[in-house]
Amino acid sequence: METYSRRQALGLGVAALAAAPLTHRATRDRTAGAALDHDPFALGVCSGDPDPTSAVLWTRLTGPGGAPLPAGDVTVGWELADDESFVSIGASGTVEARADEGHSVHAVVELDGPAWYRFVAGGWTSPVGRTAPIPATAETLTLATASCQDAEFGFYAAHRDLAEWRPDLVVFLGDFIYEYASSPVGGPVVRTHGEPEVRSLDDYRRRYAWYLGDADLAAARAAAPWLVIWDDHEVENNYAALVPEDASETDRFAERRLAAYQAWWEHMPVRMPRPTTPDLRIHRRVDWASLASFLLLDGRQYRSDQACDDVALSLDPPCRDALDPERTMLGAEQEAWVADELAAVDATWAVLAQQTVVSDLRMPNGAIVNYDQWDGYAPARERLLLAATQAARTVVLTGDIHIAAAGRLPGVGAEFVTTGVSSLAPVDQATAELLTEAFPDILGVEADHRGYVRHTVTADAWTAEYRSVADPTDPASAVTTWKTFRVEASAPDEVLEL
Ligand code: FE
Ligand code: CA
Repeated sequence: METYSRRQALGLGVAALAAAPLTHRATRDRTAGAALDHDPFALGVCSGDPDPTSAVLWTRLTGPGGAPLPAGDVTVGWELADDESFVSIGASGTVEARADEGHSVHAVVELDGPAWYRFVAGGWTSPVGRTAPIPATAETLTLATASCQDAEFGFYAAHRDLAEWRPDLVVFLGDFIYEYASSPVGGPVVRTHGEPEVRSLDDYRRRYAWYLGDADLAAARAAAPWLVIWDDHEVENNYAALVPEDASETDRFAERRLAAYQAWWEHMPVRMPRPTTPDLRIHRRVDWASLASFLLLDGRQYRSDQACDDVALSLDPPCRDALDPERTMLGAEQEAWVADELAAVDATWAVLAQQTVVSDLRMPNGAIVNYDQWDGYAPARERLLLAATQAARTVVLTGDIHIAAAGRLPGVGAEFVTTGVSSLAPVDQATAELLTEAFPDILGVEADHRGYVRHTVTADAWTAEYRSVADPTDPASAVTTWKTFRVEASAPDEVLEL
């Protein structure tokens, strides 16, 4: 706990940044671009996919209300500085924000240490963000895991708290947006986009722009570099590869997936090239010095369709399909890749950053309560866990389920499941406890609250502090600690509650 307060004391600069409204100073136009009537930087800034010498700086230029800019590319300047007020600019350059990429910017900039960054275009200056390359050596790594931020169901006190903590890294595990139509007026929503379900590129862009208008999310995006993977709602609820939720959409689903993947790419600080087909490889490895090797996985793009009609909350024995070893969560290529990488990891911690719950929660009669999780892909899970025994110790970081939990993975390591930032849990607390009470490897489960997880990683131990939002209807809500768990490197499948 001392570690956290000390870091918070040191993080005053970013706490101030997080608290500041997203206001912008008009400055003289440093670029060749024509003056813009409206602030084009309302979606904020982010950085991500750092490596030892560089990171991606992201922004996306929009018109009033997050609407697209008129056609035509725009030249955007980027600037780096050692001080937050940019008294002395250390490096600068320009990049084209292309109309056919939604006027998004992914500038790969060289870094030799932590830096502040900002963009300039059309006479406007963007908010300021904080980024850093991966250090050559690291005694400690602080990282936040977050997922599932359906903005209609809650404000983002969790993001405000995350930004104030100022971790070294944010690992976002998916469900950044939800594709759904707005909930009916009078429902349990705190705000609404008032739109139908999104399907086209323009639809998805509008939805991202609505989410990114939130000041607390913008503060979290600006506070640290992000590693981002997607889950299902960046496209559609529970889609599997090219199988949509609604069979009547099958013929058009590849087109929809391309639109969704392109919109995700346009709004995330990622290093991979823009998708031009309905396929986009996002699984990748990021080594944080010799401390942790992150294997960022994609459990949606290549998976077999959910078995047994994806029946929800089933307590019946599963149909035979669920146990078919041909069925896959990761696809053959990614599955072979992750096995190779797990065998090659020589960092202290191998980390699987991925979407759905790996821990085995099948009932004594074999019933699979949630076919969308790894329980519904049990033979593929056995292969993954066998591969993970090749690494000295593995930590699995999971999102998707909107329930906080921690568990042991015997012989492998530990799993830390973050609850949603704002999305509602599929069951209440009593049901969550009932469904997990028979499992000695599950150490805690919490379904009533929203939040995220603060992880502190050293060569000796992995500590996970679960943060919990008191009131999701209040952006200024208190955020407190639910539980803190620790795994000692010397006993990687023992999870201690502190
Ligand atoms: Fe979700
Ligand atoms: Ca999900």
